[in-house]
Amino acid sequence: MLDVMKIREDFPVLSKKVYDGKPLVWLDSAATSQKPRRVIQALVDYYEGYNANVHRGVHALSMESTERYEDARAKVAGFINAESPESLIWTRNTTEAINVVANSWGEDNIKPGDEIVVTALEHHSNLVPWQQVARKRGAKVRILPLTDDHTLDMDAAESIIGPRTRLLAATQVSNSIGTIVPVKELAKKARAVGAAVLIDGAQSVPHMPVDVQDIDCDFLAFSGHKMLGPTGIGGLYVKRDVLERMNPFLTGGEMVLAVSYEDATWNELPMRFEAGTPNIADAIGLGAAVDYLQDLGMENVRDHEIALTKYALDAFKELEEELDVHGPKDTVMRGGIVSFHHPDVHPHDLGTVLDRQGIAIRTGHHCAMPMVQSLGVAATARASMYLYNTEEEVDMLVDALKEALRYFRV
Ligand code: PLP
Repeated sequence: MLDVMKIREDFPVLSKKVYDGKPLVWLDSAATSQKPRRVIQALVDYYEGYNANVHRGVHALSMESTERYEDARAKVAGFINAESPESLIWTRNTTEAINVVANSWGEDNIKPGDEIVVTALEHHSNLVPWQQVARKRGAKVRILPLTDDHTLDMDAAESIIGPRTRLLAATQVSNSIGTIVPVKELAKKARAVGAAVLIDGAQSVPHMPVDVQDIDCDFLAFSGHKMLGPTGIGGLYVKRDVLERMNPFLTGGEMVLAVSYEDATWNELPMRFEAGTPNIADAIGLGAAVDYLQDLGMENVRDHEIALTKYALDAFKELEEELDVHGPKDTVMRGGIVSFHHPDVHPHDLGTVLDRQGIAIRTGHHCAMPMVQSLGVAATARASMYLYNTEEEVDMLVDALKEALRYFRV
C-alpha cells in the first residue's frame, strides 16, 4: 500500500495554494504529472555539476554526463523490461515516438492494400500519423469498436484483424474515458496474422507494470512528463531485430559513423535514431522518476489507483441523475480517469467553476475527437488521478461539482 501523505511531501507543488488560499487539488495527471523533488534535484545536479555534451568529449564532465545519460537509458529500458538498453530510443514524447515509427518503419513496410488497425479510443497521436501513412502508401486505417460498456469489442477485433493487417497500433489505456485495452491478447491476434504491433503507453507506463516482452510488441511509445519526469523527454522501445532493419527518420550529427561529401554510414544502435544533441538533462531526470516509481513499486501504484477509482465511481453515484460518467464500470478495466458530462452545462464552465475551488481538471476533447464525439458530445470534463491523490480530494471534487451544478441551477 502507498503512504500517500508521505508521498505528497515529495511534491513541492502539491502544497501550493491557489486563488484566496485554496489548496491545489491536482486531478489533471493524464495531461501531465507533477514532479517529485528527486526529479527536480536531478536536473539541478546536472546543470550545476556536470553539464556537458554526451558521447563526444574526452574531458571529465563529458564522460560523467555520458555515463549518467546512458545509465538513465538502462533504467528506463529496464522499467519496461526491454531486452537491452539499445532497444530504447529517446524521443521528445509519445507523439514523436509514434511519428518515428510511422515515418521510418511505416514508410518502408506499409504497402498498397495493407490495413493499419487502431482502436476507437486512440489519442490523435496514434491516429493521425497512421492516416498520413495510409494516404501516402495506399493503405487503409481500420477501427476496432467498443462495446456498450466502453470496453474493446474483442469479437469485432477477431473479424477486423486479418490477413491484410500489417500493423496493429493500440493504446493500452484511453486518456479520454480510461478504458484499459487487453493489448497482450490483441498483440497475439496481430502476431497470428503476421502483423507488427505498436502500443501507445502514454497512459499505461506511468500507472501500471508494463512489460514489452510479455506483451510481445514491436514498439512501445511513452512520455516522461506523464510519469513524474520532465517535459521534453519520452521513449520509443523497438524490438531489436525490427530496429536493426529500420532506417533513421532524422539524419545529421550523432547518428552517423563516417561521412564523406558524397555519402554517410550510420552509427550503432540506438544512436542511429538520435540525431543531434539529445535532451541530456531531461533523460537523466526521467531516470530519477523511474527510480522513484520503482521504489514505490508499480503494483502498489496500480492498486492505489484501482482503489481510488472505485472510491470516485462510488462517490459519483451521488450525481448519477445529473451527470453521465463514461468508461467501463469495472475498475479492473479502467485506469484512474473519470470522464463525465452534464447535458446542459458545458464542461468548460464546470472546469472553470471547479478551478475557482482550487480543483484542476481537464475539459475538452482530450485530443481524442472521434472518441469523444462517439459519446454524442463535443467535450467532456475529466478528472485524472495518480499516486499522490487522496479520497479527500475526490470528496472535494464531488462537493465542488454539486455546488457548481447548484450554481448553474440544473
Ligand atoms: N497517447 C495518449 C493515450 C495520451 O494520453 C497522450 C497525451 O495525453 C499522447 C498519446 C500524447 O502524449 P504527448 O503529448 O506527451 O506526446
